[in-house]
Amino acid sequence: MSNQDEIMAPLNADVVIENVRIVGSTARSAKVWPVLENACVAWRNGQFIFVGPSADAPTFTAKQVIDGQNQWLTPGLIDCHTHLVYGGSRADEFELLQMGERYEDIARAGGGIKKTVAATRALDEQTLFDSARKRLLPLMREGVTSVEIKSGYGLSIESELKMLRVIRRLNDELPVTVSATCLAAHALPLEYAGRADDYLDMIINELLPLVKAENLADSVDVFCESIAFSAEQATRLFAAATALGFKVKGHVEQLSNSQGTEVVCNFLGLSADHVEYVTETQVQRMATSGVTAVILPGAFYFLKETQKPPIDLFRQHQVPMAIATDLNPGSSPLGSILMAANFGCVLFGFTPYEAFNAVTKNAARALGFENQKGRIALGYDADCLLWSFDHPRQAIHEINLHQPVQSWHLGKERDLI
Ligand SMILES: [Zn+2]
Repeated sequence: MSNQDEIMAPLNADVVIENVRIVGSTARSAKVWPVLENACVAWRNGQFIFVGPSADAPTFTAKQVIDGQNQWLTPGLIDCHTHLVYGGSRADEFELLQMGERYEDIARAGGGIKKTVAATRALDEQTLFDSARKRLLPLMREGVTSVEIKSGYGLSIESELKMLRVIRRLNDELPVTVSATCLAAHALPLEYAGRADDYLDMIINELLPLVKAENLADSVDVFCESIAFSAEQATRLFAAATALGFKVKGHVEQLSNSQGTEVVCNFLGLSADHVEYVTETQVQRMATSGVTAVILPGAFYFLKETQKPPIDLFRQHQVPMAIATDLNPGSSPLGSILMAANFGCVLFGFTPYEAFNAVTKNAARALGFENQKGRIALGYDADCLLWSFDHPRQAIHEINLHQPVQSWHLGKERDLI
């Protein structure tokens, strides 16, 4: 075929959006938003087949052509760390804390994570699904097209599998991509008090093979902390998980430095999450191991922490930073990825452009989706949002004032009323 024929042949597309502004994916610095003005995008079968200046666009035969009216088109937002499947609520504990009770006393009286585990175990699968769906919808209305959800409030074979089945159903029944993570090593259940290694044996020898057989999770996570599991125990868990073909990631260096980051790096994990107490040596290890830093300002805010993650070190060593809600019933009841991005700016010093990347392309990287999601680019999934703001920085700055005008997941328009 001659060049002339190629130019003349119309390209089949499902949807073409003309006359939009797009945030580019490469910037000269963290301060300058790269912008593609007067752009056009097109997709077919849920993937972009053209992204570029309207002047360069080929002729399309499209089922639908949309005039973007010079509005902004961004990638779908990605929340790469949540615990949004759970039973009950801990608002009563929040109220007690605010009235002056001590967290230790509340926990001793059966509160805290123990309470959530009991409430989660008590719910049947359908009720658990319905309550999780109610928490996921506000994120989706705000523009989230991919979300990671962890188990970790079951802490028994039966209840962890129940949680993971609910997580898979959310993926199957809602217009959102859900990355499922098995976090059975979240806390020690009461039945195993004083026997952490026995509990770990149960996860390794019984639970993970069942999770694999039913294909219920993509990744395995651990809470590596003095009050949870040690670096040695995390190593044992990750060795078993990677042998079964799971990707790994960790809750590390949140309340102290427990050397969990090294374990994540040793196994070339996807992400090291929280990382408030991480050292420069550990940051360097993350850079050379390709590990993304997942920053969770919601937990920092609710726990009134003071140790901030070392944002400057991550910048200096070029460790990609993602931001997530950590949506959970206790330490981060935060159902807004844009508010999490705002917290990243106000509490930790992210620039708005860094925060935007932290909830799009870097969040995609934290889930292993970096060649598939988080950018508006050729061959990527057509997860995108049309907005009426004057500039995307407004969505990071102005809390709860912006929702997408239109939103697509895998090329299909979402109706999220
Ligand atoms: Zn978490």
